Amino acid sequence: MSKNDDLRAAQRAIVAALSQHAALSYRASSAVVNRLHEHIDLLAKELTASLADRLDSLTQAEMQAFLSGKYTTAKLKAMRAEIDGWGVTLNQAINSEWDKSALSLAGYEAAYMGEVMHKALDGLPKPKPKPKPETMLRNAMQAPLMGQFVEDMLSGIAPDQTARIYASLRQGIAAGQSNSQIIRALRGTPDLRYQDGLMQAAKRDVERVVRTARNHIANVAYDNTYEALGVEYVVRVAALEGRTCVACAGLDGKIYKRTDPKPAATLHPNCRCQYAPALEGELIGNRPFVKAMKVRGRDGVSKYRSIGGMTKSQREKAGLKIGQTKASTSYSSWFANQDAAYQREWLGPTRHKLYKQGKMPIERFSDPLGKRYTIDQLHQRDVETFKAIFGD
Ligand SMILES: [Zn+2]
Repeated sequence: MSKNDDLRAAQRAIVAALSQHAALSYRASSAVVNRLHEHIDLLAKELTASLADRLDSLTQAEMQAFLSGKYTTAKLKAMRAEIDGWGVTLNQAINSEWDKSALSLAGYEAAYMGEVMHKALDGLPKPKPKPKPETMLRNAMQAPLMGQFVEDMLSGIAPDQTARIYASLRQGIAAGQSNSQIIRALRGTPDLRYQDGLMQAAKRDVERVVRTARNHIANVAYDNTYEALGVEYVVRVAALEGRTCVACAGLDGKIYKRTDPKPAATLHPNCRCQYAPALEGELIGNRPFVKAMKVRGRDGVSKYRSIGGMTKSQREKAGLKIGQTKASTSYSSWFANQDAAYQREWLGPTRHKLYKQGKMPIERFSDPLGKRYTIDQLHQRDVETFKAIFGD
């Protein structure tokens, strides 16, 4: 085999391994998220039980003082101490779960990528030693993620939730709600598995931050591994499916010099994109795709769902199709081959008209660094096309 054939085979192996790995990483993150959700449930139960008693014991005057943010009596001071202390406990739980899992994640992801590349590049020059997990984790924690640091994102969750609790209590009191109504707003109702309570907000924050931060750690570990192995070019890989956003879809398949400025690997909350080493000029081999329409869930929300997040009947309703396509198929060329109903749902009506009638490729819907343009911005950028299609 020529060196070129070797490289093509290596690229094929890497792409296949990476796309399989994405599903495993998602599940590993789910495990961390679920542990924290259980923790939040428990903390929520304790706090709301205690607050119910405390509210019952407050006089009208104390209620009014609480409303104006004055903690004048011993009971009010104790109530404030409990809510604030609850925030501290939540913060500790989040950080300790993170500390337990982050280092092994960095080590695991780098070892994984090193292994994939070593197997793929068998017969080629031996790579340099791989970076230490501690170093990679530190690199990831010091590399901004959406302009913020992971540590700050994690430790912002509990204070945000504490502020929401105070706001919810004040709103309930101001609206003249009964104490049990006020507590129900916080905790939710058992019939809806507490998903209607304010504590759900903390769970959503935890899920978003943990998933995004873990993807960021993996991406930094990959980049550190590429650096150690002397990878010069990388190719951006998005998931071929409806949950991928229009900006990431437009960037899929783009090749960059590893050290050049380029869109951040993790571009936005819940972003699952990655850079794979680009050994040849294009991606070769196969990549999986998932085609499914939005489906309404128990929460009443209609959205694209993961395969594992759908029941059998939801999968049928979504018209779920799973398959493989050539890895050189970019998101935009895959998308161009889907039916009109799917295209319209994914793009939304305005972008769909721009795509179909204005012949605007999906790459035009975001800037080169992956920031999605609003409809207004698209209008400003392309007055003529808008005039032709929408008449203004
Ligand atoms: Zn995206």
